Amino acid sequence: MSNFDYDLIVIGGGSGGVRAARISATHGAKVAICEEYRYGGTCVIRGCVPKKMFVYSSHFHEEFIDSASYGWDVEVKSFNWKKLIENKDKEIDRLNGIYGNLLKNAGCEVFDGRGELLNRNTVKIGDKTFTTERILVATGGTPFMPSIPGIEHAITSNEAFYLDELPESAVVVGGGYIAVEFAGIFNGLGVDTTLVYRGKQILRGFDQDVADHLSAEIQKKGINLKLNSDIEKIELVDGKKKLTYKDGSTQTVDQVMYATGRAPNTTDVGLEKAGVELGRKGEILVNAESQTNVDNIFAVGDVTDRIALTPVATMEGHAFADSVYGNNPRIPDHDNVPSAVFSQPPVGSVGLSEEQATEKYGQVDIYKSEFRILKHTLTENTERTFMKLIVDTATDKVVGVHMVGPDAAEIMQGIAIAVKAGAKKADFDATVGIHPSTAEEFCTMRTKSN
Ligand code: NDP
Repeated sequence: MSNFDYDLIVIGGGSGGVRAARISATHGAKVAICEEYRYGGTCVIRGCVPKKMFVYSSHFHEEFIDSASYGWDVEVKSFNWKKLIENKDKEIDRLNGIYGNLLKNAGCEVFDGRGELLNRNTVKIGDKTFTTERILVATGGTPFMPSIPGIEHAITSNEAFYLDELPESAVVVGGGYIAVEFAGIFNGLGVDTTLVYRGKQILRGFDQDVADHLSAEIQKKGINLKLNSDIEKIELVDGKKKLTYKDGSTQTVDQVMYATGRAPNTTDVGLEKAGVELGRKGEILVNAESQTNVDNIFAVGDVTDRIALTPVATMEGHAFADSVYGNNPRIPDHDNVPSAVFSQPPVGSVGLSEEQATEKYGQVDIYKSEFRILKHTLTENTERTFMKLIVDTATDKVVGVHMVGPDAAEIMQGIAIAVKAGAKKADFDATVGIHPSTAEEFCTMRTKSN
């Protein structure tokens, strides 16, 4: 036991901070954790979890229509946004409570309040000051919006989760995860939706075929996609939002939401008082062990701007706790992290895009498949599913797998285990498919597309 009040103070009660605090306490450390908003962090409170609920809600619309081809006579009377928000809030409250209990049961001291470093061993939480041997910063990120005239009339995903009314028309700005997901949510719920992206194709950085396929599918479903477009200013006119684009055109909508990236939360945390180095975007710079340049201060999760995903933050937090307090030193592995975009249809990916694989390996074999899933052979739904395998020609190793289609996230989780284990194309070929399923296509692709 050290001469400090605590062995560890964790600042930030999101996925990474909570995991690090809980496991460190389980290993015997005296731990305090503080959170200024609500325990659970972005993912649980106003991110992944409520977002997925919204996706479920909005996708029912398509399911009702499809069900007619299977003999159902469903009359859709109305959609009640307030009911959705109310039920979502109830579940988020429950999860928020669970997070608090998990921490307390593990023996952590839990503070509701903002944490600020006063020096490398002292943290101020609310109006109290504590000393600590180590500090872990897990303050996450916050939505970034460009500073154009009238930006105060726009919302971000933070507000989208609590809107009083569902807008009749909306513009979503951005071409990344959040923009594509929310455009799908609004569109499915019947909002006249425009997705505005400044570049030539959405999902920059993803496999080009994936981005192209999703772009076509979301437009088929009714999203008005405006590429190479940027908004110059926003004005409030008769309660509506009038957008003026850089090309001079205008559009008036009920709501405009910016999903133009997220910035690390490193302002007013006192990091400079402790001498912690930040990167160009304000992110905390850490080594592979999540340690900053100040050797008793660590950071995990979005605030470090490595891979901004909840399971990555929990991996980093857990590895920190095991390494420092569990006598089990280990480094979080950021290779082959699978991810999904909960667009409609969803995207699932693991490994490299074709562009990245070609750059890394030179010669790669590409296997692609595009088809209507069995379910839609009876329906009028024209949605098409896309699957792609990227194989390093020299070693036969599968280095990238991508899918756009129903259940992509569920399917990709299993595929990611194979990729992580270093599976070869021959292993995929030797695996017997589950029939009839969409996923079996990954085991039956035999003809190269390149
Ligand atoms: P992303 O970084 O994914 O996308 C940001 C988008 O905004 C890009 O299309 C970018 O364009 C555009 N953009 C940035 N600045 C401007 C600007 N000044 N004007 C116009 N457009 C701009 O960020 P998100 O906010 O969507 O998500 C943040 C992170 O959260 C993701 O990277 C992901 O790690 C995580 N996340 C994960 C989810 C999941 O796993 N399903 C869901 C939601 C979020 P350009 O490409 O040209 O730079």
